[in-house]
Amino acid sequence: MCSIVAAIRQKELDMVFFENRDRPKELFIGNDIRRIDDVIGIYDFRAKGMACGYSLRSGTAGGVANILGYTGRKSRGVILLSALKEGKSAKDAARVVKEEVSRGEYSSAKYVFCDKKIIVSLENFGTKVHYSEDLKKRFVVTTNHFHNLRVGKRLENSILREKYLQTLGNNITEQGILKLATRHRNPAICRHGRTLSSFIAFERRNEIPQILYSLGEPCKGYRVFELGHTS
Ligand SMILES: [Zn+2]
Repeated sequence: MCSIVAAIRQKELDMVFFENRDRPKELFIGNDIRRIDDVIGIYDFRAKGMACGYSLRSGTAGGVANILGYTGRKSRGVILLSALKEGKSAKDAARVVKEEVSRGEYSSAKYVFCDKKIIVSLENFGTKVHYSEDLKKRFVVTTNHFHNLRVGKRLENSILREKYLQTLGNNITEQGILKLATRHRNPAICRHGRTLSSFIAFERRNEIPQILYSLGEPCKGYRVFELGHTS
């Protein structure tokens, strides 16, 4: 289970991508944050892929949320990492995922990508893929159910979390995101005991991007991922 918020063209932020990653139903060994080429994200030791991340090269952030219903043998984290590495933009990253998952070898999931210009999402169940983009949309929320494909489980908790996240509305701030990420009241966004990690990428006008993360529950605090000096 996961909670994802992608927002662009906000008052104080050009772009923000947030994901709280909850314990997967598959075997879990551990996760950390690392940089692979130009991609920084939450890396899963077992899958050898990323649950979510941000490409410094393309300015694209993306993540994947599990949808129960279809089980494939290939790793969604691996395709997400490839898409962030290869994609030249959010749309291009979505294209990489779409081409690969439409073969029906990946467990059902929803993928979200954003750059400064657009937020795109993909729903995948077996060989079915639904792609959506809307240039006017500045805010997209994703939990663990589909909106377009008429398949997959629709858990009550997922619907409640989505409804709550929607109330963020269209003026998203750094403080607003941090407050939301650590919320414990029902519907909890920090699903204490179940949330494994959290990732936030911020882009502000004329500033270098900022990556915040937590390994373990987000309510225990975020750390800054040092990008070092890039010339
Ligand atoms: Zn907590």
